[in-house]
Amino acid sequence: MGAKDNTHRPLDWIDEQLEALAQQGLRRELIARHGPQTARLVIDGRELINFGSNDYLGLAADPRLSAAVVEAVDRDGLGSGASPLITGFAEEHDRLQRRLAQFEGTEAALLFPSGFAANVGTIAAVVGPGDVVFADRKNHASLWDGCRLCRADVRVYPHNDWQQLDKLLAKAAHYGRRLIATDSLFSMEGDLAPLDRLVDVARRRDAMLLVDEAHATGVFGKQGRGVAEHLGVEDQIDIRIGTLSKALGSIGGFVAGSESLVQWLINKARPYIFSTALPTIVATAATVALDIVRQQPQRRKRLLQRAGQLRVTLADQGWNTGASASQIIPLIMGDPFHVVQLAKQLRQRGLLVPAIRPPTVPEGEACLRISLTAGHTAEMITQLIETLAELKPI
Ligand SMILES: *Cc1c(COP(=O)(O)O)cnc(C)c1O
Repeated sequence: MGAKDNTHRPLDWIDEQLEALAQQGLRRELIARHGPQTARLVIDGRELINFGSNDYLGLAADPRLSAAVVEAVDRDGLGSGASPLITGFAEEHDRLQRRLAQFEGTEAALLFPSGFAANVGTIAAVVGPGDVVFADRKNHASLWDGCRLCRADVRVYPHNDWQQLDKLLAKAAHYGRRLIATDSLFSMEGDLAPLDRLVDVARRRDAMLLVDEAHATGVFGKQGRGVAEHLGVEDQIDIRIGTLSKALGSIGGFVAGSESLVQWLINKARPYIFSTALPTIVATAATVALDIVRQQPQRRKRLLQRAGQLRVTLADQGWNTGASASQIIPLIMGDPFHVVQLAKQLRQRGLLVPAIRPPTVPEGEACLRISLTAGHTAEMITQLIETLAELKPI
């Protein structure tokens, strides 16, 4: 009995469920790359052009970041050893938080272990039972999980439909606090939130506005602060979330806003309080990345120009690029099997373009997602265009 009882297999359901996912073309698997993450990747000994990266400014393997980290790690070591409120918080974190606040033009900023943790922790800290959150249907998973955890009521509004949101808010006056939560640049379709409208609705209906700029920080706006800057409304966004892990080339999330917001999060955001502080070398690297964002605006300008040209070319080829207005360009196909098949064919030809399937996108919206970065050369983009033309189903 006990260990020898091979009739007791309580995890058998997992194999059945995995098989069911595979049958639907929805099973996901890890592929390990070899070497650094740049515009080229080596997978299974084969070099591929990488159109699947969030490293929008090409900083993830930038020698300036690596050099700063190498120097810092000799001095400071690796681990932070504890959560920030115990002994994990260091001068390097403090310096980066000040730099982030300066960059964002806010009173204060707070570092989280990840952008995911920043979203979950912040939403759950600012609303609770008796309150309500209004969430765009296409928000990122981390905003959803924040909504689930916060125990406030959650109302979903149709994607970017600020008029519908306004109507929902009109019926929400009886709630304690009202929070609107949205991505600024939606990660699947690459389209932008109408932040100018949302700001207006939030004001009129006395709601707080939380904007997640994960894909836009470093890319959009004159100073690279994101879509809020691009649309000229940044001073009217109450809670700004960003990540160090995409355009800034490293890891970690942050919240920027008023001093009191940050003080409240230090006291109430559980992923902040109960997770170990980021390594200080990460903070050092991110500080260097912020310098590059400030000193090299041409990186983001050229990236968005090239993305605009690519969108036009792909639309001319007959691809459905949805409402993309950014460096993220989907080729929406609908059927997950077709998407996976095309991704395979591209890969055979040396191009890595990820297949995005439900539940990451709604049923019927499976797509290939092209992420353009500053590391892509004109030749790489041409190769993508020519290969897609060749493979396009009629
Ligand atoms: C990637 C992403 C996050 C999570 O950021 P990490 O730092 O990778 O945890 C949050 N929100 C959006 C919109 C994202 O795309």
